Amino acid sequence: MRQLYIPSKMSYVKGKRPQVDCILCAVCHKDRKVTKLEVHRTKHWVVSANLHPYTAGHMLLFPCRHIADVRQLLENEVSEMIAVQKLCLDVLDAAYKPAGYNIGFNIGRPAGASIEHLHLHIVPRYPNEAGFLDILSETRSIVESPKQTVKTLRAHFKKLSKGGS
Ligand SMILES: [Zn+2]
Repeated sequence: MRQLYIPSKMSYVKGKRPQVDCILCAVCHKDRKVTKLEVHRTKHWVVSANLHPYTAGHMLLFPCRHIADVRQLLENEVSEMIAVQKLCLDVLDAAYKPAGYNIGFNIGRPAGASIEHLHLHIVPRYPNEAGFLDILSETRSIVESPKQTVKTLRAHFKKLSKGGS
């Protein structure tokens, strides 16, 4: 299996891929061709809900600069990333009360990166998730639509971030 993050069965997810060179650059530049999943923004970083969530609250954190490797991050981008990551965890704790997290970059296609533009997955984990076999057979029921996730996350980012997004 090449991809860990399976698409949900929701109809609007099934639409064609937007005709843009890079979907994350398109989100950064507020391109109307992409679904509005942004939940927070800082000087160099954008936080969005994942269109194909692995669990409820699954977020992506990415720099607006189109780079493919963490080693290309500049010092100010790294320090800002750490701060944004902390805020993301506070927001998820407040909004979803998960029992744990997986946080990481997939770099390169064999590692599962389907988008070249560097992005950090923040995946909340819950005690009673469906097993891996359920996920493989796509019988897992989606706990929440990405649309609802965006609504929930935006409200909590507004509350917890000083100065807003
Ligand atoms: Zn890009």
